[in-house]
Amino acid sequence: MHDIIHLLPDHVANQIAAGEVIQRPASVLKELVENAIDAEATLIQVILKDAGRTLIQVIDNGKGMSETDVRMAFERHATSKIQDASDLFALHTMGFRGEALASIAAVAQIEVHTRREEDELGSLIAISGSHLEKQEVISCPKGTVFFVKNLFFNVPARRKFLKSNETELRQLIMELTRIALVYPQLQFTLHHNDTELLRLMPSNHRQRIGQLFPSRNHSTQHQLLPISAETSMVSISGYVGTPETSVRNPNQFFFVNGRYMRHPYFHKAVMQAYEGMIASPLSPSYFIYFEIDPATIDVNIHPTKTEIKFEHEPAVWSILLAAVKESLSKSHAIPSIEFDQ
Ligand code: ADP
Ligand code: MG
Repeated sequence: MHDIIHLLPDHVANQIAAGEVIQRPASVLKELVENAIDAEATLIQVILKDAGRTLIQVIDNGKGMSETDVRMAFERHATSKIQDASDLFALHTMGFRGEALASIAAVAQIEVHTRREEDELGSLIAISGSHLEKQEVISCPKGTVFFVKNLFFNVPARRKFLKSNETELRQLIMELTRIALVYPQLQFTLHHNDTELLRLMPSNHRQRIGQLFPSRNHSTQHQLLPISAETSMVSISGYVGTPETSVRNPNQFFFVNGRYMRHPYFHKAVMQAYEGMIASPLSPSYFIYFEIDPATIDVNIHPTKTEIKFEHEPAVWSILLAAVKESLSKSHAIPSIEFDQ
């Protein structure tokens, strides 16, 4: 018998990897917008067609890429963001795995226009199902435009797995919302089938929350109380809703070191702080940001994984509970902050 083991060709390996990183249009949006932020863009524009099925376009005014870099960017494990494993413990960027673009390119038709400030001319590159179709010199503004067309055109099973346009669009908006809540200083726009859905001007955290969740009436609906806790272990900041503004579908967000996370256990700490003040099924809105030594959380975060393990979870839980309680008790003494100002 002859030997039977062989290495998979790159385009096959990329398509398999893509299955993990790119599950739906919202995953593409997340990766492209995070890359734009890592490229120090201050204005990021997203244009969608058919809930991202036929087009996800992201325009940024960031650093751009050289002719060689834009080709390299699509190789698997190609990144400009880390050098070795120790960098993982001091990440200053959203990306670091170098697999997003290779994955997207494996399952879509991509065109990129990019130019660095110092270059007179930019580059255009077109890749379809991991195959380089063309690369040429073009003139274009500083920054980068990604066109991701016909997602999963070569993976019918994945395409079928997508939900209704309404559901996919909701996920797309939610993905951008999570990012926009972390970067209020950046300007974002979102268009879908020629309709403007979001236009977020540079602001601070509190204003950004108001831009994303405008109050339906001007009574108490969107009153938010600032919370803060500063310890050697963790620093917590953000806003929580007053008990009276609790609703059935509240906006509840946790972020750690600039990334959205789900954390059912910390959620319980927040709910406990409201004990006796609200009755289910009502629940308060909250926007809570943790800053913590990256060495004390699970660093090698999978791109699609939003549940994050903390090393000192019970201690952080107690600090969070105390912070929310303190802000709720103060709320009776001082007037709380209104949205939309
Ligand atoms: P990662 O973000 O993990 O490094 P990606 O596959 O997302 O991996 O991107 C690969 C590389 O392409 C990045 O490290 C970066 O150098 C470059 N890149 C991607 N998007 C942009 C962009 N919008 N502007 C400038 N460079 C970019
Ligand atoms: Mg990336």
